[in-house]
Amino acid sequence: MTSKIEKTSNASPAFTASDVTPVPIASVVSKAPELLSPATVPFQDMAGQLLFLGTGTSVGVPVVGCRCQTCTSDDPRNNRTRTSVILGLPEGTLLIDTTPDLRTQLLRERIGSVDAVLYTHDHVDHVYGLDDIRPLCYHVRRPMRVFCEERVEKRICRAFDYAFETTPVLGGGLPKIAFERITDQAFDLLGTRVIPLRLGHGVFDVLGFRFGSLAYCTDTNRIPAETWPLLEGLDTLILDCLRPSPHPTHFSVPEAIAVALQVNARRTFLTHLSHEIDHATISAALPAGVELAYDGLSVSLGRG
Ligand SMILES: [Zn+2]
Ligand SMILES: [Zn+2]
Ligand SMILES: [Zn+2]
Repeated sequence: MTSKIEKTSNASPAFTASDVTPVPIASVVSKAPELLSPATVPFQDMAGQLLFLGTGTSVGVPVVGCRCQTCTSDDPRNNRTRTSVILGLPEGTLLIDTTPDLRTQLLRERIGSVDAVLYTHDHVDHVYGLDDIRPLCYHVRRPMRVFCEERVEKRICRAFDYAFETTPVLGGGLPKIAFERITDQAFDLLGTRVIPLRLGHGVFDVLGFRFGSLAYCTDTNRIPAETWPLLEGLDTLILDCLRPSPHPTHFSVPEAIAVALQVNARRTFLTHLSHEIDHATISAALPAGVELAYDGLSVSLGRG
């Protein structure tokens, strides 16, 4: 009697190396450019739009290890990467801040190019994804234009010191950066006039930015007297709002609503949200014209 095991062991192997039809290397190589063809990669058209890449606070939402209602929610608007936006300006695409989620955000939103980066401040959740610009530099074959204040530049030079060493590092790639210093003064960028907005963020001074009738003001809990006039006549205000209760460096929900009502933009979007903000619950409590932002939300840059 022959066991199944013996039959199996006597049988020819189901698959041998001789069964494999060699694939000429040339045919593989010749297919590689197709994978990179623009026709097969539907990049998003950002013209005239501001897109929320991320709307979450520094640890993101869900929070690692948390089982609260928001962190376990099925609502995709409660899934928040770290706070950042990207704008389609007349002469290119502008990224504001480089979060630790940058690569994920760019892939999710099918962003194929960035022409400049602008920084609000030097906190980790706004800076530490900078290395992810490497493929963007490679595509345009030039360093990335990085607009920031001196404090942010110093942080970047410390955190990414390998990118600035005088002896070139062989192997791997480096983020290539061309700094352009900004201050409180307005400046031109990618065909648009940018007005910096000085904001208080606890003991720190940070910058918001105004582009025409839209202002972006994240990471703040204090608007200095000199900034209020720069917020007049807005169509769209994007404003920091961490959680329902007060916080030493971010606006609470009641504080953000009070600012929104005082600025009186047509629409206000709240961002930098923590897991204490359940999208549906808090949205229902907001006054008309004030909304919670969410990852992937796109708004028009509107009138200049
Ligand atoms: Zn932040
Ligand atoms: Zn939670
Ligand atoms: Zn911050």
